[in-house]
Amino acid sequence: MEQNYGRDTSCIQGGWKPKNGEPRVLPIYQSTTFKYENSDYMGKLFDLEAEGYFYSRLANPTCDAVAAKIAALEGGIAGMLTSSGQAANFLALTNICSAGDHIVSSATIYGGTSNLLTVTMKKQGIDVTLVDPDASEEELEKAFRPNTKAVFGETIANPALVVLDLEKFARLAHRHGVPFIVDNTFATPINCRPFEWGADIVTHSTTKYMEGHASTIGGCIVDSGNFDWMAHAEKFPGMCTPDESYHGIVYAEKFGKMGYIQKATAQLMRDLGTCQSPMNAFLLNLGLESLHLRMPRHCENAQKVAEYLQSCEDVAWVEYPGLPGDKYYEVAQKYMPGGSCGVLSFGLKGGRDMAVRFMDNLKMVAIVTHVADARTCVLHPASHTHRQLNDEQLVEAGVRPDLIRFSVGIEDVKDIIADVEQALAAAKA
Ligand SMILES: *Cc1c(COP(=O)(O)O)cnc(C)c1O
Repeated sequence: MEQNYGRDTSCIQGGWKPKNGEPRVLPIYQSTTFKYENSDYMGKLFDLEAEGYFYSRLANPTCDAVAAKIAALEGGIAGMLTSSGQAANFLALTNICSAGDHIVSSATIYGGTSNLLTVTMKKQGIDVTLVDPDASEEELEKAFRPNTKAVFGETIANPALVVLDLEKFARLAHRHGVPFIVDNTFATPINCRPFEWGADIVTHSTTKYMEGHASTIGGCIVDSGNFDWMAHAEKFPGMCTPDESYHGIVYAEKFGKMGYIQKATAQLMRDLGTCQSPMNAFLLNLGLESLHLRMPRHCENAQKVAEYLQSCEDVAWVEYPGLPGDKYYEVAQKYMPGGSCGVLSFGLKGGRDMAVRFMDNLKMVAIVTHVADARTCVLHPASHTHRQLNDEQLVEAGVRPDLIRFSVGIEDVKDIIADVEQALAAAKA
């Protein structure tokens, strides 16, 4: 693909490659269908014998260009856009797991993904074991079963801000002959490229930093091309035995390294239809064009806000991987030396009640169910996403009742800090 470009160049120039006389800027191919001159060629397309577009549920030039850009940024060989981050994780896993299979996943993952794994996929017959990401390799070994088909985790967990020891998880996965799938939403390839640390497949909720402006839900799957499916053929019949719904194609054979994404497209996108619209892909692409400029600013601002909060008398604790002394400082320094993300969490000495008063008094910072976009925003899980739980249940779920999740945007940091300062003072009064 485009791995010779620097990351900043890929943000701008990756993906869309106009030919002579074509639009310089990625066009929105707002068309469900594509026209062909003869019936025979269309037949070849359906047989995956010829290359070309025929129906936008399966593939669309706008979406493909954006997927190629993200693949280039991650250093992968192929990518596929999905309608959301949820769809990306669901497709990434069910492309290689089906009823009777088992997944080992870090316990500290996004709530939606946790629900997907422990409720919806469980109902479909796929079992999951949630593991403590900080456990020793010996301890983690115990989670594996003969039917384990994948290891899953998040580079930086939302909202726990646990930084995953990528090499440890990659070693475990590979020792058991299964791929390591990493949700890289919070770090983005600007701060961390999991393939460089042994991950095989990366997923994204592009809804967050990638699109970056909170305008568009979307997701993406990228394959490194490094996992040797045929070497573990008995574990992955879907990749390594004929697909009768596609004229007996063996994906890992016919498409080699491209087999995983080809299968996800030809089978799962065909049947489930969780595709991204070309319009949304266009907006995502605009966001990606400034990702390399926005991420350092998010991190710089978050670092200053975290340091400010640490200095506040009313603040009980602050968690941010960029703070020396944070539980994940060292591991973040190793895997993302340039910065982690813009999200931090903290608690107030006045506890849950003061947290609510603090948030109600914020003027510029908005209370929203979102993180990781240009505007600074805040959420109190105990009052919002986890409001059905009492304090005891909250602690069990790993969410302290006083935890405030603060997503630092790219405004003037002095304005963010000033808003926090006045809201703290008002909350105390
Ligand atoms: C938001 C998020 C998701 C889900 O993405 P949607 O685009 O909202 O479907 C998955 N993983 C992580 C880490 C997220 O932050």
